[in-house]
Formats: sequence, C-alpha cells, structure tokens
Amino acid sequence: CGIFAYLNYHVPKTRRDILEILIKGLRRLEYRGYDSAGVGIDGGNNKEWESNAKSIQLIKQRGKVKVLDEEVNKQQDLDLDIEFDVHLGIAHTRWATHGEPSPVNSHPHRSDKNNEFIVIHNGIITNYKDLKKFLESKGYEFESETDTESIAKLVKYMYDNRENDDISFATLVERVTQQLEGAFALVFKSVHYPGEAVGTRRGSPLLMGVRSDHKLSADHIPVLYRCCMTDQDTCLICLCLCFYYVAYSAVIEHTNRVIFLEDDDVAAVSEGRLSIHRIKRTVGDYPARAIQTLQ
Ligand code: GLU
Repeated sequence: CGIFAYLNYHVPKTRRDILEILIKGLRRLEYRGYDSAGVGIDGGNNKEWESNAKSIQLIKQRGKVKVLDEEVNKQQDLDLDIEFDVHLGIAHTRWATHGEPSPVNSHPHRSDKNNEFIVIHNGIITNYKDLKKFLESKGYEFESETDTESIAKLVKYMYDNRENDDISFATLVERVTQQLEGAFALVFKSVHYPGEAVGTRRGSPLLMGVRSDHKLSADHIPVLYRCCMTDQDTCLICLCLCFYYVAYSAVIEHTNRVIFLEDDDVAAVSEGRLSIHRIKRTVGDYPARAIQTLQ
C-alpha cells in the first residue's frame, strides 16, 4: 500500500536516524486503510558499514506504524548508535490482498532465511502461483501466503543462476520483472549489493526524490541521471510510492526534486549514481526522465 525507501550516500547516519526517517516516511503515507508495517535495514554490529551491510535485519508487525515503532524500540539487540556511511533502508505499509495480516505476511519479504534479498511491493502479482510452483520445484521454501514472496525468491533464483559474477542488481531486477504479471511498484535491497537500491514499477505509481548538492544532469542511455559521482560526498535519494499527492508529503521533507518513474522503468542507485532504464526499449530516441521541482 505504501512504499518508502531512503538511501544515504556518504552522509553518516546512525541506525536511530535511519529508523526515524523510515518510520516518519511511513507515517506520511498513512492515508487509508492498511493492516501491517515493516522495515528492512542493515544489520551487524561493528562500525564498518561494509561489514554491517553483510546482513539485513527485518522488523515487521501487524497493525499501525505506531505498533511497528514500539516494536523497533523493544528490540534489545538493535544497537541504535551504529553509524553507517552508506545505507539503504526500505519500509512498507501493507494492505493485504493475499494472506491475512500477520508479521510473516508483512513486507519486506525475503529470499531466504539469511535475508540475502528483500523486497517491498505495492500491487498484485497475478501469476504468483505459477512462479511459486516453479520456484518450489527448484527447492525454494516459502514461509508466507503472499503473492509478493515469489518476487523475493525469484530475484535470488536469478542471482543463484547468474552467468557471470559481476551481474548488476538492475539486471537481476530487470529479469525478474520480465517474469511478473499484474501490477507492482517494487524496491529491492540485497546483502550482495550493499548500499544499492533498485526500484521498478508497472501499473502502480513510484516516484524518486533526488537530493544532491551537485548539479543534476540528464544524459541519455545508459546513465540517464547522474545525481552524484562516486568521489562526491553528499547525495540522498528516497523512493516513495502511493498516490502521488500523498507521496509528495513523504518526499518533500528530504527534497523537492523528483522523478516520476514510468511503466517498466528500472531505477538503480549504485555508488551514489542513479540510472534509469526502460525494460522494453522503444525504437528510436529514449527520452530522459525529467527531474521536476515540486512547489
Ligand atoms: N499483494 C501484496 C500483499 O498482499 C501487496 C499488498 C499491498 O499493496 O500492500 O502482501
């Protein structure tokens, strides 16, 4: 029902800061019925973000964002003072379509018990039963009753069966979305791609807020937007979903510069650089997605 993701790139933030941003983002998206909420952040317990990023922690609850917030505060082993230089946190409020409201059916959904890949989803995957059957035949074990979980397993399947080791996160997601039917806005996070975010949509709205102290330029394929280069030190990006007017309120406190993704766009942030590709390439010139300024 609502998606909020926040990536800070070389802007040190503690886990407390990150959770506050995520919970606040979800609160801003609180506009209609939803039944559960969850977040996915980097785990681990030492100061090196690389080490922290090797595990992902999920906190999910049935109920309102307030209940999630209380659950976050109850977590004994959550060292809130750990600082991350680069971090992607993803958060979701769910309006159940497949599977009752419960912690295990809440998002983010995960690829496996090690949380190698996690995903948040708005919408409905109509061919999830076929995907689930296929993935179960390959040995993937499901824990929830949702349509979304098949996406989390499918991205791991694509990763486990990759033909080369340096396959990009965006390429994996592109392959996943080619197998999906239905409506979706998705954001992925993975221990294999620390500090990277990939978002995509079809039939459900998704917008990206882009914040950078550097000049934003729109180029053509393959990199349509450079929000910042690797050697520059400030860049914040959040992706946010829902009806756009609601999403604005979640994004506007971070930036007023936004990009509206279109159907079949795959937007990836890697090393602080944002690129947007369209899966089904149209013949001829591919227009750059405009960066718009909200009033
Ligand atoms: N179909 C998914 C589920 O039931 C996503 C629902 C939503 O958009 O919140 O979990």
